[in-house]
Amino acid sequence: MKASRSNSFLMVVFCFVSIIVAGCVATQPVSESVVSKRAQMHMGTLVTLTVVATDRRVGDRAMQAGFDEVKRLEQLLSTWRSDSELSRVNAESGRLPVKVSQETLDLVARSLEITRLTQGGFNIALGPAVEAWSVTEQAHIPDDRELQQLRPLVDWTNIQIDKEAGTIFLPLEGMRIDVGGIGKGYAADRAVEEMKRAGAVGGVVALSGDIKAFGVLPGQDGFPVGIRHPRQEGVLMTILELKDEAISTAGDYERFFERGGVRYHHILDPQTLQPARACQSVTIVAKEGTVADGLDTGIFVLGPEEGMALVERLRDVEAIIVDNEGTMTVSSGLRGRLHVP
Ligand code: ADP
Ligand code: MG
Repeated sequence: MKASRSNSFLMVVFCFVSIIVAGCVATQPVSESVVSKRAQMHMGTLVTLTVVATDRRVGDRAMQAGFDEVKRLEQLLSTWRSDSELSRVNAESGRLPVKVSQETLDLVARSLEITRLTQGGFNIALGPAVEAWSVTEQAHIPDDRELQQLRPLVDWTNIQIDKEAGTIFLPLEGMRIDVGGIGKGYAADRAVEEMKRAGAVGGVVALSGDIKAFGVLPGQDGFPVGIRHPRQEGVLMTILELKDEAISTAGDYERFFERGGVRYHHILDPQTLQPARACQSVTIVAKEGTVADGLDTGIFVLGPEEGMALVERLRDVEAIIVDNEGTMTVSSGLRGRLHVP
């Protein structure tokens, strides 16, 4: 039995500066701009911010603004904290609608849009099933009866949003909303906005494998990002330049355990309540981190054919999908943009 949580900067690696060490600061003046990079732990993951600014003072301010925004969203959305808005919604399941902020309401509504796009592949009501598996903590394989009993609780169509009253209601006791599959992408979008507002001219927000970039690195066309090989740790499959866009990867190598030669990982197929089996990794490139993060999980469940067909239908969404045999497919808009590492 083996439990594993990938090291974040193996999953997606920046190639332009030295290796990041949590808590350290690397600052490099490049022509008229200053590039700085700093990492901290938030949302249970390594958050690395890169800021390009005209001077160090503005750079520091933008860095602070980015981290503050991530911390604010952790308070608002995390279901690990009992005082977050979503934890209150969950605690009142089967009892009462709970008033939440417009921001929480909007994120839940956007999550449900991605649920519909991916035909239920992305499902924010899946928490009780995720917990039954507890892939990282217990490496427990739940039996089918246990999983079947959870079915009504994980049915996202039961989630009731009242936009006018500003409430969310989970009608069955034990239902839960967990935005863990989209929240990091959303946090990346928001942190970028705050960094821009504080005066940064470019930068990158990376929450583990959820990355959003804006502007360019001085003297370059964007920010080069590497995508790791799903079966060879430390090996990059491909590299692309991110420019005013986000990238997010869902992989079966991120959190998993193995038993009897079978890999049990953290992305569940809402139909079977078993680990989704059609892909090894799905990388989505989109304008927004929220879209990239929600879609990577949903398309991982949908599988390579239907997933790629969906990507080709959506504007400003591209993908690199590795199927369960290790074959990589690249969407039309990314061909020509990938470099061999
Ligand atoms: P991470 O970057 O934390 O691995 P992902 O975006 O890959 O996040 O989402 C995976 C997380 O989302 C899982 O750890 C689990 O909590 C939850 N999850 C698992 N399966 C699904 C699913 N089908 N839809 C939505 N969320 C899911
Ligand atoms: Mg995701």
